Amino acid sequence: MNRSELRPVLLTVVLYASLDLLVTFISLYTQPKGGLVGVFRSADTIPLHLFFLALGGVALGLLSILVFRRFDLGLVVLIPSIVILTDLDHLPSALGIDQPIRPTHSLVFIAVAFVLVATVIRRPDLSFAVMSGFFAHLAVDTGLFPPFSPISFNYYTLGDYQPAFIALALSSALVAGYLGKRRTITVK
Ligand SMILES: [Zn+2]
Repeated sequence: MNRSELRPVLLTVVLYASLDLLVTFISLYTQPKGGLVGVFRSADTIPLHLFFLALGGVALGLLSILVFRRFDLGLVVLIPSIVILTDLDHLPSALGIDQPIRPTHSLVFIAVAFVLVATVIRRPDLSFAVMSGFFAHLAVDTGLFPPFSPISFNYYTLGDYQPAFIALALSSALVAGYLGKRRTITVK
């Protein structure tokens, strides 16, 4: 992988992190008064949780690489980064500010992120890698999430949808690998 290949991957990471923080900020204003408040995970469990999240992300990237027999460092870097960065939305509670629960663990958020990466970075393969990391994260998390945040804050239980999240994470990783392979074939 040369530098011109890594650049769009790093830009995608920056774009995703910025959007995560922006939507988190918006949610502080759109959350209903007296709504549920997110609490911060106890600090000693954070490293292990992040480790499992990153491991899941790496596994998804490797799976796609194996299936399409094409090494794609971007996938192995991007998917775990996205898996971890999804939790940037806990920042307000870490700073002692009342916030809704998991404001960016939302279908509205991933839809916007997907379209932004496809249009700004112009790399649909990276859009699918982002989607894969996002749903891998939701598959590992437990508790409540607001699928239509920051527009509305009705909460649903993550565990009820775990099979769907795993299926979406796997299929998106494979589509990302497929599009990445087709892209390099067309470019060469
Ligand atoms: Zn989370």
